[in-house]
Amino acid sequence: MPTLHVCGLRLDDPFLRLLAQLMPVRFEAAADAPAEPGVRLQVANVDSEAARRYVGASLRMAAPGPQGTGPRGEVAFAAHAEVPFPFGGRRLPTNCPDGGAPLRLEAGESALASRGDDPIWSVAEADGRVHFRSAMPWPELAPDAAFFQAFNSLRFVESLPVVDFLRRVTGTDTPAPRPLRASFVIDDPNLHWIRYGFVDYAAVVAHARRVGYHMSFATIPLDTWYTNTRTASIFRDAPDLISLLVHGNNHRKGELARPYTPGECTGLLSEAIARMARFSQRNRLACSAVMVPPHGACSEEILSAMAALGYAAACVSSGSLAHHNAGRPWTRLLGFNAFERIGGCQVIPRWGLKNDVDNSVFLAAYLGQAIVVMGHHQDMADGLAEFDRVAGHINSLGPVAWSDMQTISELHDPRSSAAALGSADPSHRVAPSRNDPRFGSVPVIAGMRRIATEIRDRLTPMYSRMFTS
Ligand SMILES: [Zn+2]
Repeated sequence: MPTLHVCGLRLDDPFLRLLAQLMPVRFEAAADAPAEPGVRLQVANVDSEAARRYVGASLRMAAPGPQGTGPRGEVAFAAHAEVPFPFGGRRLPTNCPDGGAPLRLEAGESALASRGDDPIWSVAEADGRVHFRSAMPWPELAPDAAFFQAFNSLRFVESLPVVDFLRRVTGTDTPAPRPLRASFVIDDPNLHWIRYGFVDYAAVVAHARRVGYHMSFATIPLDTWYTNTRTASIFRDAPDLISLLVHGNNHRKGELARPYTPGECTGLLSEAIARMARFSQRNRLACSAVMVPPHGACSEEILSAMAALGYAAACVSSGSLAHHNAGRPWTRLLGFNAFERIGGCQVIPRWGLKNDVDNSVFLAAYLGQAIVVMGHHQDMADGLAEFDRVAGHINSLGPVAWSDMQTISELHDPRSSAAALGSADPSHRVAPSRNDPRFGSVPVIAGMRRIATEIRDRLTPMYSRMFTS
């Protein structure tokens, strides 16, 4: 395991401890006093031939300070061989760090990133050793902060030089998969009509074909009581462009994060499988065995039950997963890996169409994650322009394999291919108990609430036309 000597930081610094949990690296206090103020990491040894170049390498940064406190600005990455994919030559608007004097480049030193005319990240080679410098403060985190809180679309400029340095030294800087994988996921629409709210399925297909993307719709098993035949044929005719995945079972609030017994977990998830399997057979329409938890609420217990029942994966943002599993030690590590395995279930991260999605796309590609961007029908209120723009942004990174979520889960783990909906071992399925109020009476209420929500969603485009005309 590579060993790094640390100056200017306590070994129990929260970010340092987090990085040591995420990558195979050991930190030791440096024997010598720091020659200059700030933080220094220096590589004492490496454990792979590929990382031999980094023996003696160093990273120097400004003293610890809070992240993302500075004004919004643009960071320009140089088109330099040492700038990692996909940042080279790009300009990213982000919350810039406050403080830290810009670097004054020395002879032989090259800027890797700049803010305006000021270099903030640099590299130099001296005596056969590579040395990085960052003008930005070492990210100061709360003791229980998670990786995704230090490395996200709003806050990554300060942490990128550290994360990148350690990925190189530990040999975990595996290149992003080529082609990149991507999908849009839209929550809630069903197939009751050829449109759902602002979604016009035929228009999406035509647009996806022209621009080059795939759109998956997370549909609610409760809604599969009826399917419009024309809508089903739109999906059947374009499986490379649009697809379906599972969105809860009844779409109750916090449906997949409630304190269920193991039997209740299995009952709920089995009912979702049974409904989607019936829907698939009736309409000759495949559905990815990938679950999007309603409102991002999903517990570790539900993930375990999903794995046992044969779901291929869950797709949920790191923030939602951490929020609904507060206190679990693994929540601190979320956001670093290509995907997670929690309770035996594959978990694929996703990002909202809002919240600086362009930066999220870059960070996902950098970390080798599938680029899964989520939205709602309201995001199509002005047409498909935003999807046009974001798809163009993703496609600008290089070859991209757009696909349904089942395919993405199988690329992560070929075992997922056995997990098509309805193929789960029937012995795991537990019929919902009639005596259990959670399952006995709730579907009626859930059904009424779902119909009310659908009416609201379907009327929204009409209201918006009335108020804009
Ligand atoms: Zn929903």
